[in-house]
Amino acid sequence: MLKIKECPYCHSKDGYYQKITYSGNGIYRYGFINDIGEQESIENGDMYDYLSSKSSKYYYCLNCNKRLGLVEKEKR
Ligand SMILES: [Zn+2]
Repeated sequence: MLKIKECPYCHSKDGYYQKITYSGNGIYRYGFINDIGEQESIENGDMYDYLSSKSSKYYYCLNCNKRLGLVEKEKR
């Protein structure tokens, strides 16, 4: 975390963020049409289990998007 009370560039107190990139491939399943003409529903609860995430090395200001500081390694 950053130990600052506001953005040093734009003086906003809105907060700051870390960029997170999600990557991965998943599948979304569809059922075939059944005997009464309806589509069978299929469980898709594991859709996001294949995603992995990577967070940025820097924190950025929510307002002006400038880099505010380095993220400490152990928190990434
Ligand atoms: Zn700012």
